[in-house]
Amino acid sequence: GERQLTNLNGLANEYLQIAYQGMRARDAAFEIELITDFEPNLPKTEIVPQELGRVLLNLYQNAFYATHEKKQHQHNEYQPTIRVSTQIVKNKIELRIKDNGTGIPKENITKIFQPFFTTKPTGDGTGLGLSISYDIVTKGHSGELFVESEKGSYSEFIVRLPI
Ligand code: ADP
Ligand code: MG
Repeated sequence: GERQLTNLNGLANEYLQIAYQGMRARDAAFEIELITDFEPNLPKTEIVPQELGRVLLNLYQNAFYATHEKKQHQHNEYQPTIRVSTQIVKNKIELRIKDNGTGIPKENITKIFQPFFTTKPTGDGTGLGLSISYDIVTKGHSGELFVESEKGSYSEFIVRLPI
């Protein structure tokens, strides 16, 4: 793929819709609140859109999966929500994807970026998404990818890219 000067807000929104449609195709009854809070003055950044799109798609799919999983175990009280935001932080473009799904146990936090680590049943996950995403962001785009999470409560994946 080739690098292109890209508006990350547009790309983030485009792939959110793609992931949402995919999730609805698997469970048309699943209702989720999607919140976007995009920085309107975000500068464009030089990225390979197909590669960053792959990262976004995986992060969104993981977020949908985590809220869907939680919904199976909790009942009427639970409102699945995914919040996507962009901002400029310390002269970098930052994108956050936060879900209020199953969260990640502390003992898995360092493992999730390793190839083939998955907690999903066969067929649902290969365990490659985050390791590929990590390489695309860090090696491919000189950026950062990290996570903040609390088991049972939320996960938030943070991508930082140079402007
Ligand atoms: P896969 O989705 O195929 O399992 P990934 O590399 O994308 O592989 O993710 C690895 C593991 O990290 C998942 O199996 C899951 O345990 C955990 N994980 C990733 N994203 C989330 C999330 N948003 N909420 C809870 N757990 C997550
Ligand atoms: Mg995945």
